[in-house]
Amino acid sequence: MAKPAAQVDILECRQCERLVRYREQVAEIKVRRFRDWKYWAKPVPSLGEPNARLMVIGLAPAAHGGNRTGRVFTGDRSGDWLYRALHRFGFANQPHSIDSNDGLRLIDCYVTAAVHCAPPDNKPLPSEFRNCQPYLLDELQQLRNIRVVVPLGQIAFKSFFGARKKLGWIDPAPLPSFGHGAATILRDGTMVIGSYHPSQQNTQTGRLTETMLDDIFRRAREHIRGV
Ligand code: SF4
Repeated sequence: MAKPAAQVDILECRQCERLVRYREQVAEIKVRRFRDWKYWAKPVPSLGEPNARLMVIGLAPAAHGGNRTGRVFTGDRSGDWLYRALHRFGFANQPHSIDSNDGLRLIDCYVTAAVHCAPPDNKPLPSEFRNCQPYLLDELQQLRNIRVVVPLGQIAFKSFFGARKKLGWIDPAPLPSFGHGAATILRDGTMVIGSYHPSQQNTQTGRLTETMLDDIFRRAREHIRGV
């Protein structure tokens, strides 16, 4: 699958010292259940089709998920939820995402993140968002067919609009508020649908249910169908 130019270079990126240290440390001091794994321990590139009409934006790879398997949202519970939902609405060829050789293929869909290296406590610093922003800028410029954007969580939502501002793209003022299911249609007809992140904090507490996540991708599918 062809990738935007910046995504080809991203694998060599070591701009964020703290994250480079952490992603490599996690690979050395493994958790018991993954002790036989050789961790990826590098930036995790985006995944998907260059002509995709749906873009999903996550926060950052999980230390023992994407940072272990080398594929975005792969090998952790958040990914289980995400790809099941994408599969139900025809955006993925299978509902599971276990490792990078499991045959997963996205269909008309592209999954990226605001930050491409695993951060301690899942919390990137403002400087790390800034360092990683050029990759998102590059994707927004190169993926010309996007009709629906689903930022997962408020931080991804802000990163998306922050990147658009940096590109000088015109957005509604004031910017729309983030909320699960809150949708905005931008000037060019792109629909942005906020979604809670399928993190364990959200899924285990019932803040986000599978039905709620399905509603997001059902609307994405309907909008794409109607375009
Ligand atoms: S988070 Fe982004 S900018 Fe920072 S080291 Fe990783 S790929 Fe590079």
